[in-house]
Amino acid sequence: MIQLTHVSKLYRDFVAINDLNLHVHAGEIVGIIGHNGAGKSTTLKMIAGLVAPTAGSIRVLGRDIEKESVAIKRDIGFLPEESPLYENMTARQYLLFFSELYRLPRRVAHTQIEALLDSLKLPEKDKLTGEFSKGMKRKVAIARALLHDPRLLILDEPNAGLDPLTSFFIINYLRTLKRAGKTILLSAHNLFHVEYVCDRVAILKNGRLLVFDTMEAIRRGLGQREYQVIFKADESLDFERRDGNYVFRTNDVGGIARVLERISERNWALVDLSVQESALEEIYVKLMTN
Ligand code: ATP
Repeated sequence: MIQLTHVSKLYRDFVAINDLNLHVHAGEIVGIIGHNGAGKSTTLKMIAGLVAPTAGSIRVLGRDIEKESVAIKRDIGFLPEESPLYENMTARQYLLFFSELYRLPRRVAHTQIEALLDSLKLPEKDKLTGEFSKGMKRKVAIARALLHDPRLLILDEPNAGLDPLTSFFIINYLRTLKRAGKTILLSAHNLFHVEYVCDRVAILKNGRLLVFDTMEAIRRGLGQREYQVIFKADESLDFERRDGNYVFRTNDVGGIARVLERISERNWALVDLSVQESALEEIYVKLMTN
């Protein structure tokens, strides 16, 4: 779906992206994270065909983005980091205006606009977008990116400035889009959301790709997993005690298996068994500060 090969981007002599290789498969949600100025927006804009790479090649939907950008853009919905709206239009008028730019047949446009207003929960259909809250404006911008029913969605910080509930609504909406067959590439600073929604995560630092993998693999490689078992025993043991129970913690799965076996052999009562994994945030902070 998206293939970046040895892509670099220089702004005069400043290296914003340095030898980036990235392959996004059809139907997945990929998140790009990184510090301010890491190169996330530059990467997304290059993939959307809005900024030309200085070196390397970018193929989107099997085509070279530089040579066939017009054809590819029909299949891309792009949400920029900042997306000012025409403030004296209602959401419906604004989307209708864009549907004309996309040359959508009127009837298709109307059906699509009503479906988007409805699924994005934009009920105040007669209000001008200039009177909208930040979250509502963002939803209209997302609707605009989806208007022509693109196969690929590129979203630069879709949740920027949104309250937790609206953010979560948008994140869940992305899942719905994925189920409908869309491929989604997004950037975000809220790592909890990235962890929740993304199939794979790319971590950028100073224009370089540090990691690109599934959350499971990132946790396995860079995070920690701790198993904890809490149990009651009718004899005195050399274990941590908590609330009259014994607590055993380890990151060795073999160790936990041995303790569970012992609990079972002795007929002790198992109170709780849990696994704690490093959150993406913890791994990210470790990577960025090393
Ligand atoms: P943020 O999280 O703050 O949005 P980002 O990861 O999206 O940051 P980019 O906007 O891609 O970062 O910028 C990467 C680097 O390239 C920054 O140092 C930025 O100053 C620089 N840069 C971006 N656009 C231009 C431009 N048009 N001209 C010169 N430098 C630029």
